[in-house]
Amino acid sequence: MEFETVIGLEVHVQLSTNSKMFCNASAAYGGEPNEYIDPVTLGLPGALPVANKRAVEFAIMLGLATNSEIRRFNRFARKHYFYPDLPKGYQISQFDEPICERGSVEFYMGETKRTIGLKRIHMEEDAGKNIHDSRTQASLVDLNRAGVPLLEVVSEPELRSPAEAAAYLRSVRQLVRYLGVSDGNMEEGSLRCDANISLRPVGQLKFGTRTEIKNLNSFKFVERALEYEVARQMALLKNGQEITQETLLFDSVSGTTRPMRSKEESADYRYFPDPDLPPVVVEESWVREVESTLPKLPSKWIHDLVSEYGLSLYDATVLTGEKAAVEFFNEVVAACSNAKAACNWVTSELFGSLNKEGLEIEKSPISAKALGELISMVDSDALSGKMAKSVFEEMFSTGKDAATVVAEKGLKQISDDDSILAIIKREFDANPKQLAGYLGGNERLHGFFVGQVMKATEGAANPKKVNDLIKQEAERRKG
Ligand code: ADP
Ligand code: MG
Repeated sequence: MEFETVIGLEVHVQLSTNSKMFCNASAAYGGEPNEYIDPVTLGLPGALPVANKRAVEFAIMLGLATNSEIRRFNRFARKHYFYPDLPKGYQISQFDEPICERGSVEFYMGETKRTIGLKRIHMEEDAGKNIHDSRTQASLVDLNRAGVPLLEVVSEPELRSPAEAAAYLRSVRQLVRYLGVSDGNMEEGSLRCDANISLRPVGQLKFGTRTEIKNLNSFKFVERALEYEVARQMALLKNGQEITQETLLFDSVSGTTRPMRSKEESADYRYFPDPDLPPVVVEESWVREVESTLPKLPSKWIHDLVSEYGLSLYDATVLTGEKAAVEFFNEVVAACSNAKAACNWVTSELFGSLNKEGLEIEKSPISAKALGELISMVDSDALSGKMAKSVFEEMFSTGKDAATVVAEKGLKQISDDDSILAIIKREFDANPKQLAGYLGGNERLHGFFVGQVMKATEGAANPKKVNDLIKQEAERRKG
């Protein structure tokens, strides 16, 4: 029997606000243990939470960017469980009235556009961290992260392979980075994901029993954990056995999953509306105001790059990986009006050099305008492609603009016909044997003369003109 893979992700996005979700304590990453705490973080009696307006705004931004419905009247709820990193004994989250519902996320798998539905996006607070210290045999609690704002983005079970799940997660990360609501840093835990997975016989509508793999913190782990789980469930089902609905942990060392606990139902959490917090009222005018601050999003960029600039889908995807990169590219085009050349220079030369130096594009030693000017010099035949590459390298290491480097190195492409023709005639006359062969029909000697002219000009002659004029002069001498 053939099985279909069904995956739904719950992605936790840590918001880059200055303060926590319900108090003024700093939401910064790191710090000395328990440096960023206050009575609300500690859940001290009498301490009252106040919702962070900026965090709500970030939720609206992500809601708009995913075409979600923004609930005009949404509510915080207490989700109860008992763990040392949760001082209040409950997490403030949202339950049946989340801020965003029924959105979608778009991304490409190769040439295929995929649109994955979102059930909901809700606001909640993060828990602290338990640290198990083997040296002192003690368990320590650091509450710096407790109360930091999170958005939980819950997809429909519409992902169909581990690779697709990873691609979806990448596009969520890309989106929150474009919006500036999170740095999306998986190593620091700003983006974490729980993956739900089940199998069903191909053609069956009803979903199979799922397992949930908790707290995956890299794209690679998401994919590997899901691949392992597909194989494990497949083996059980083919054997006629049943899947136990449970929560699993992925062990990245062994590459396997193991049970963590049986799946809890929402009733286990004793959800109820938080009486300390008023409902969040989102006025239409607020939504419109937030909407006006949204940047151009990746899917729109990709559409425009393909339809207006004629770039391939692949190039458009590469360029839009980061907002800063596509904006840089766009400035290069503004300076040279040659999108294809700009794309080549940015994705190969520039990305390559930045990578080698470990630099972000924001720190590029070559400005977008300077790169555009370099491209224009090639387009106007002032420089050959080969010369431009060496100019680029000099620009990259010194930060000088193209015109300065060209002047300093005395680089100038020879493009006028008369000068090139004079050199060709000289080379023909200086190599009578080769010339006789060439005129006699040995086409390979064409390359010999191109080489001679390029050598004589130290690579400065316009190669296309050299090519054409050699043929022309040869014809003249034949006839
Ligand atoms: P719960 O409230 O029990 O956590 P939800 O309906 O909110 O369940 O779903 C949580 C996540 O699990 C969602 O991302 C959803 O797409 C996914 N999911 C639900 N059922 C399945 C299934 N049978 N197989 C795979 N994923 C599923
Ligand atoms: Mg859940």
